[in-house]
Amino acid sequence: MPPPKVCVVLHDVSPATWDACKRVLAAVDGFARIPLTLLVVPEYHHRASIGESPEFVTAIEKRLALGDEVAMHGYFHQDEAGPKPWSPSDRFRRTIWTAREGEFSALDATAAAQRLAHGLRQFDRLGWKVAGFVPPAWLLGPGGRAALTASRFRYTTTRRHLVTLPDWRPYASPSLVWSVRSRLRRNLSATFNTYLRHRLRHAPLMRLGLHAADAAHPDAMRFWLDTLRACLESRLPVTKSEWLGLSP
Ligand SMILES: [Zn+2]
Repeated sequence: MPPPKVCVVLHDVSPATWDACKRVLAAVDGFARIPLTLLVVPEYHHRASIGESPEFVTAIEKRLALGDEVAMHGYFHQDEAGPKPWSPSDRFRRTIWTAREGEFSALDATAAAQRLAHGLRQFDRLGWKVAGFVPPAWLLGPGGRAALTASRFRYTTTRRHLVTLPDWRPYASPSLVWSVRSRLRRNLSATFNTYLRHRLRHAPLMRLGLHAADAAHPDAMRFWLDTLRACLESRLPVTKSEWLGLSP
């Protein structure tokens, strides 16, 4: 039996969120130097392109040299498109639940393909190998799905699965993840993630989905470090590509 694994993922990595990312990374590094999967947003909220910050580029390159992986995480990380009117469930999903971060939920295939290509060009320019694409808020509409199938990405993820591309073969593995936007959400996150951690204690893979925004919330960070400590007693840390047997 291969040993069980743990995948630690940091969402929303960009020059615009780098201060918060650094705090999360310092907490994890201080505990154990393990390979992480960094979900990098090429131009987060139109605020900063990844290639334009030498400090950011240098820091990511240091991490890549130590075994981290980068994956592309949306392009702007903002849901600005979309046919209206929305159904009530669409409205809930796209505005209330995800704070309009689900950029790839309503893009048509052409627009989605353009953003994927534009992002890949930025990674290529930096010489950063990238195998994965994770849609913001894990929301992927039909257009995004078609564009991803035709792209060179080798995997994507949903909240519940890792999925190889272009065959869309799913591997069940729910991700632990916190929503920190309000005290109520943090309390619900603490309860639900504690339950999920227990339910998945024998699963072959545990996915820990940390966000840059978690850095500002000690309860979230305490949960992650406790969970990481428990995981590392029996689990081998790997990147998503490593777990899928892909070389980025
Ligand atoms: Zn995100």
